[in-house]
Amino acid sequence: MNYCKKCILPENYPGISFDAEGICNFCRAYQPQKNHLGKEKLVELLRSVKPVGKYDCVVPMSGGKDSSFILYFAVKELGLNPLVVSYDSGFQEEVARANIRTACELLDVDYQVVHSPGDIQRRLLKQNYQLSKRYHIYLDGCMSCEAILRVVSMNAARANQIPFVLWGSSALEGFGANKISVINASGEGQNGSDDRAFFEKIKTITRKPIKILRHIPYYFYNILQRILLKFPIKVALIPGSTPPLSQEKPQFVSFFDYIQWDSISNVSILKEELGWQHPEGKDIRFDCRLHCVGNYNRLDSAGITSDGINFCNMIREGKMSRDEAVNREQKIAERVGEEYQSLVKEILG
Ligand SMILES: [Zn+2]
Repeated sequence: MNYCKKCILPENYPGISFDAEGICNFCRAYQPQKNHLGKEKLVELLRSVKPVGKYDCVVPMSGGKDSSFILYFAVKELGLNPLVVSYDSGFQEEVARANIRTACELLDVDYQVVHSPGDIQRRLLKQNYQLSKRYHIYLDGCMSCEAILRVVSMNAARANQIPFVLWGSSALEGFGANKISVINASGEGQNGSDDRAFFEKIKTITRKPIKILRHIPYYFYNILQRILLKFPIKVALIPGSTPPLSQEKPQFVSFFDYIQWDSISNVSILKEELGWQHPEGKDIRFDCRLHCVGNYNRLDSAGITSDGINFCNMIREGKMSRDEAVNREQKIAERVGEEYQSLVKEILG
């Protein structure tokens, strides 16, 4: 197997080609991240609206690295009093739950945990799994967690008259990280997230009326979950849709547009200041047990895990060496099959 000499994409990656130096077209086309706007601009923005209530901003937290750093920065560097909001799908890792609790206690900030109602998330995954088997498409692990986190953050901000949400989407890690060169189960190039690809596929299948019946339980649980989590009704009724990041009341602020954060080398701050922990041998994207689904799908369809695709971006940004990426990718690939199978067992109940 041939690999790009710069990143770690393999020769069977959809749409890949290599130049005379053995460097892939994705590396050649890569646009480095734009310059960060800086702390002063962020402070200026956050001071532009005076908070009415007790909190300055909402910090949505997953218990992973990025959101933990945002909380740390908001309190220690910006002197803010945030309200931490987290969403627990029922598949959150215990260590991630503990990270949120410990960080909030050490920093003395309030936090709210919104739980997926009852057993809905597992039922939804079970329906999703059965459809994916029947139609030879991939199980969608990330479901609508991003949409849910947006909505619960927005609702918490509105209920407490909080003007800002410090949103942690970053181009390198976390939500949206795979938007460059995403592919679907049939190997076609696709620009969008996993769940978007899943819903596009489902849409074409459901055009055949006889098959609609099979999808009813899936849509039922999806819409029910959204209604119970208090989605705006128009968004709730369209499964798979994500509400836009609101620009006022509250305003979503893309934190990593302002502040640079090297998530690989700066973990020590989190460990020392927030009592932050990660599972043995796993220090990125461990906050959700469903994360292995994306890795499994990608490895099967594209020869590299979705974490591996992120590592490629980090190499291109000069934030990770190629050797380290190879090493990490190998470890993830070794255990992902087992993680996936045990998850499926749990989903089927
Ligand atoms: Zn490359």
